[in-house]
Formats: sequence, structure tokens, C-alpha cells
Amino acid sequence: MSQSIIRVNELHKSYITGSNALHVLKGLNIDIHEGEMVSIMGSSGSGKSTLLNILGILDNYDKGKFYLNNILIQKMSERKAAAFRNKYIGFIFQSFNLISFKNAMENVALPLYYQGVNRKKRNAKALELLDRLGLKEWWNHLPSELSGGQKQRIAIARSLISKPKVILADEPTGALDTQTSYEVMDILKEVNASGITVIIVTHENDIAEMTQRIIRLKDGIIESNHRTATNHHTQLSQPKSILS
Ligand code: ADP
Ligand code: MG
Repeated sequence: MSQSIIRVNELHKSYITGSNALHVLKGLNIDIHEGEMVSIMGSSGSGKSTLLNILGILDNYDKGKFYLNNILIQKMSERKAAAFRNKYIGFIFQSFNLISFKNAMENVALPLYYQGVNRKKRNAKALELLDRLGLKEWWNHLPSELSGGQKQRIAIARSLISKPKVILADEPTGALDTQTSYEVMDILKEVNASGITVIIVTHENDIAEMTQRIIRLKDGIIESNHRTATNHHTQLSQPKSILS
């Protein structure tokens, strides 16, 4: 039996602005096992990004418990949070969040720069990942010279370079056309098949149906949590590893 990689118990989060408190997450319970591919759905403003930011240790929560790889994650210094993120988490965003004045290779290599890996080594690793994602010949192009699908593949490569256990993707296909969205989902499925847990926020049903489980948020609580027809793990005996 695989074990919990993410466990959330009675999680609460409010935003305070001035004298107003907005209670966004009202006691969530979520258990995600290592190797799962899960989607989080819910209408705009339902707290999907808030939840993802907490899971990625980009933001604090107010009440409850959050365990990442069985480690209790609580208010901690930014330095410690960054160390946890480096070790466990890769992020993918709707707007790609690439650095506009750095080329594809440099963007992919960036997490290793923050880890103090020397330039030669990090660029070599970045090129290797770009190659696996079919983008090798684009290594020296700037984001502005790439299509949306190419940019998201660069962002996926960047999320993978520090060998995370979990990929958190906030509407990764939100800015892409259908065809390109499906290509990106194929890559994320391959990433998942290599053993990495993948959590995707989306408001598109067809995208959510490509994951194994759909968690729906509504009014700050979990409205439903059910397996999809894609229930089976696509874990291959010989994982075609995008990583290794
Ligand atoms: P979703 O991603 O599901 O669209 P969010 O998690 O981004 O929803 O936001 C949930 C609610 O919290 C929204 O009403 C939003 O306006 C509010 N919110 C999000 N971030 C902040 C913030 N930093 N400060 C105050 N309110 C916020
Ligand atoms: Mg959002």
C-alpha cells in the first residue's frame, strides 16, 4: 500500500484585509497518496489556489494540520520553507512564470541556481530535461519566442529539475488551446507514471477526468471526492521516466 504524501486535517484559512476576515477554507480533510494524480475543482474564488499555496508552503494556514511526507508543516521561517519546497515540491502555473530575459535552458536550470549548483552542471541537467521534453533545439530561445505549449513544457522541465516528490499545478492548461492542453496533460501523466504525485487545479471537466481522482471545493469545504474512470494507476513496470 502506498503511503500518504499529503495529509490535511481540519484545515482553515482566512484572509484578513483591514477589519474584514474572509474565511476561505473551513475545515478541509484531504489525504493524497504517493504516486496519485488528483485534480482539484471548484468555481472561481472557491479557494483552490489558496489550498495549493498552502500545500506548496508558499502560504500559512490558521488552524488544523498539514503533513507533507509525514512531516508536520507549520509556520516556519522562509528559509526553512524554501528548503522544504526545494526538496519536495515542483510548481506549474497557468501563466508559466518564466523569466522573460532568460532563455529556455536558463529558466529550467533556475531552481538549481538557488541550490548553489554550478553553472556547467545545472545547464547540462537543464539541456537533458529539455531533450526529454522534445525542446532541445529551443534551448537558447527566450520565452517570447516560444508558443504557449512550449512555454508550459519549459515550466514543467523547470518543475522537475530538482526531482520533486510532488508537482502542484495551478490551472496549467488554463491559457492553452484544447489540443495543446491535451499534450501538456500527456506529459503530466508521464511525469506521474514515473512515480511523482501530481495535483492539478482546473475548472475544465475533461482535464479533471484525465486524473485519477477529483476533489471538489465549494463554500470552503469539500463538496465531493471521487475516483474517475481513469481510476487505474498508469504506473508502468518499466516507467518511461522523464526524470531518472
Ligand atoms: P480560486 O483559486 O478557487 O479561484 P482563491 O484561492 O484564489 O480562489 O481565492 C479564494 C478567495 O480568497 C477569493 O475570494 C479571493 O478573492 C480571496 N483571496 C485570495 N487571495 C487573497 C489575499 N492574498 N488576500 C485577500 N483575499 C484573498
Ligand atoms: Mg485560482
